[in-house]
Amino acid sequence: MQTSTRNSLLLKRSLAAVWHPCTQMKQHESLPLIPVARAAGCWLYDFDGKRYLDAVSSWWVNLFGHGNPQINAALRDQLETLEHAMLAGFTHEPVVELSERLSKLTGGKLGHCFYGSDGASAVEIALKMSFHFWRNTGQPEKTNFVSLAGSYHGETLGALSVTDVALFKDIYAPLLRASMQVRSPDWRLAEAGESAEAYALRAARALEAHLEQTHATTAALIVEPLVQGATGMAMYHAAYLSEARVLCDRYNVHLIADEIMTGFGRTGTFFAYDQASIAPDFLCLSKGITGGYLPLSVVMTRDEIYQAFYDDNVTRGFLHSHSYTGNALACRAALATLDIFIEKQIIESNRKLSIAISKAAAGIASHPRVRHFRNSGMIWAFEVETGDTSFARDFYQRALAKELLLRPIENTVYFMPPYVINEEEITLLTDRTLALLEP
Ligand SMILES: *Cc1c(COP(=O)(O)O)cnc(C)c1O
Repeated sequence: MQTSTRNSLLLKRSLAAVWHPCTQMKQHESLPLIPVARAAGCWLYDFDGKRYLDAVSSWWVNLFGHGNPQINAALRDQLETLEHAMLAGFTHEPVVELSERLSKLTGGKLGHCFYGSDGASAVEIALKMSFHFWRNTGQPEKTNFVSLAGSYHGETLGALSVTDVALFKDIYAPLLRASMQVRSPDWRLAEAGESAEAYALRAARALEAHLEQTHATTAALIVEPLVQGATGMAMYHAAYLSEARVLCDRYNVHLIADEIMTGFGRTGTFFAYDQASIAPDFLCLSKGITGGYLPLSVVMTRDEIYQAFYDDNVTRGFLHSHSYTGNALACRAALATLDIFIEKQIIESNRKLSIAISKAAAGIASHPRVRHFRNSGMIWAFEVETGDTSFARDFYQRALAKELLLRPIENTVYFMPPYVINEEEITLLTDRTLALLEP
């Protein structure tokens, strides 16, 4: 079959049979779907060999490129021994080794790993565990959760309850449990002359006021450490996390770190919370955990919390499960991903890479239409001055025409490339993005 025919046939069949995520399907009458025939490194290719630079790491999951030889080899090997076995009553090497290694990465502080299948399921697990801990320890009135204004924690009903993005939440409000939102430490909200740190501390006072009032009924504070992704890459000073830790301790409230997007080196340290030298009570990981290969998530917690469930009474245990919990192939991909971090000294080498990308993006940062150019580790974001309400859609299409996969959030354009992006690709990304800023 001719390759271009293969492209168009696939699009037609997809629109007929696949209900695509986060999409008003009718928009595809004018906005074409992009067929992906194969992928390698930072590039996605269609059947004609037309290519797109995956500058958003395929929705923030890919770390070491598509078709990574090392992860591929690990998966092939794993396929020959065990693809999956149920984790209730059974166990296997990949899940044990992954749990031990993740625990080490928290300095042994979060030594118990509970697995889910995706980010939202990890958030559900953390919320349920926190509530259940307080119940098991004689404080059943602690049933409420607090999150930051503009937070995103996933879109299943429990996760959506602590999410604060109107576009995703408002329609489903009648189905959701109420939660409280406090001032975001997002530094763009600082007053003129107020430093990011001073503003973060001011935001922490709002959290303090909230917890002072509500701590008796509050189970946990859930935060995206350092970067609030889906609301538009809002970045904030680590001082907020240090203060949040102190306040959560003072008011007997759990701190849940949702590092589903920020974990695995995205903000420059292995976990974003490392930059505040704290440890959360619960840590949610997913997205980059398998290098972007397979769905897997995990909630890690402290021994004291684990022990509160350890009992002769069955219902004091955490009776939560997902069918694919601890999937062996996914755990093996995660182990291969951790191997790459060590062998290639990724945290160190990303520091240089991050500086190189910031340098290449200097022309964007100083462009007259660009506001709030910001960077955290391997994330860059900026707002584009525009009166156009369909900016995101138009920019996305104009970027595709220049071989770039960029998916702005309203008028916020961001780069979140795989860690294997090379010099030539960086130049291509930044030069063409700069050109896209011209109307
Ligand atoms: C993506 C994301 C989630 C949800 O993960 P899914 O795998 O899409 O369910 C939750 N929290 C944060 C911070 C995320 O970025």
